Amino acid sequence: MVIDHSVAQGAYRHGVFPDEHGRFGEFGGRYVPEGLMAALIELEQSYRTARDDAEFMSELDRLLCDRVGRPTLFHQAPRFAQLLAVPGAKIYLKREDMAHTGAHKINNALGQGLLAKRMGKTRIIAETGAGQHGVAVATVCSMLGLACVIYMGAEDMRRQVSNVVRMNLLGAEVRAVQTGGRRLKDAITEAVRDWVANLDTTYYLFGTATGPAPYPMIVRDFQTVIGAEARAQILKSEGRLPDYVMACVGSGSNAIGLFHSFAGDSGVELIGVEAAGRGMETGDHAATLSVGTPGEMDGGYSYLLQDSDGQIIRTHSIAAGLDYPGVGPELSYLKDTGRVTYRTATDAVALGGMRAMSHSEGIIVALESAHAVGYLMQMARHGELSADSVTVLSLSGRGDKDLAIAAQRLGIGG
Ligand SMILES: *Cc1c(COP(=O)(O)O)cnc(C)c1O
Repeated sequence: MVIDHSVAQGAYRHGVFPDEHGRFGEFGGRYVPEGLMAALIELEQSYRTARDDAEFMSELDRLLCDRVGRPTLFHQAPRFAQLLAVPGAKIYLKREDMAHTGAHKINNALGQGLLAKRMGKTRIIAETGAGQHGVAVATVCSMLGLACVIYMGAEDMRRQVSNVVRMNLLGAEVRAVQTGGRRLKDAITEAVRDWVANLDTTYYLFGTATGPAPYPMIVRDFQTVIGAEARAQILKSEGRLPDYVMACVGSGSNAIGLFHSFAGDSGVELIGVEAAGRGMETGDHAATLSVGTPGEMDGGYSYLLQDSDGQIIRTHSIAAGLDYPGVGPELSYLKDTGRVTYRTATDAVALGGMRAMSHSEGIIVALESAHAVGYLMQMARHGELSADSVTVLSLSGRGDKDLAIAAQRLGIGG
């Protein structure tokens, strides 16, 4: 299938494109030390030139097809739909779990890897929390012949041993970060330090649609392939646009990638599902857009989970990819304009979604994606899913990485 980039470009005309300051309304921008400003501007110029270069885009399309497995599967989930007990409701799954390495993160890693090569950079650095982004970056560096250094908090490395092994096997150097809480935040600090010291040779491959401009735009654009495909696939299957389009929201890259192509279709309801963790009332959650307030973090301005003194609040989610106090500027903007509706699902609801999708359709989804699955089940139970409606549901990744947690929490296995 040829990917129709003009669909996404059509959506740009509806005012969801950042302005020349990298802003989506009041969100986004560039809050970085002087030393990084020039590098970010160089990156933006290089990216804009690459995006307009048909040869670059066709090389990207070719690799997405040959090496990532795009377009990803898109199909109905009839037995899952039956569980919902809503007459005539059809559920379609967008299967990013079928992409090489098992999640959507590779779409962005590949796009930026190619961009780095085009810019003449020979060395890629990245930071990773749970290790999923690190694995995607290490995979792309191996494919494209680029040196790769991944910064990871020592505490995260201890908890995610198998992803550390994967990255090493793929030829990446994983640098243990021993400062601060030895988590993602500290790894970002170290990666930025490396970048500032090695700007000539090094490309900083950022993993999600947050951070300073131009990263939110770049990551969004490289993830837009999800929605561009899904829009064409639903039109082919149903001959019409869906009523609901749903995705889980961590920092927001799979959600904005899916939503963007539908943003200009006013009849399509866009629903982002955040992590309610142990329950919104407990305070142990990661529902940034649902209850957060705007502020500055990681070089950009967007919704955050912060206290009244502006201190970042500790988050919790059973899904590592959703356990983050920030979210991208474009999803923040789409909250304020009302174009996207944000809802939440608890750890327990996500586990229920994981079990239901496994039992009914033979698909073991990632706990992140399971938040959207579980919320859809709740929506149906509360009578909020219309009869004869068509839903497109993003399965952002596969659940292999979550088997130990599932075994423990669902009381299954040996
Ligand atoms: C990383 C991850 C997410 C969350 O990241 P977004 O940027 O919000 O998409 C969701 N699902 C899976 C499978 C992931 O690996």
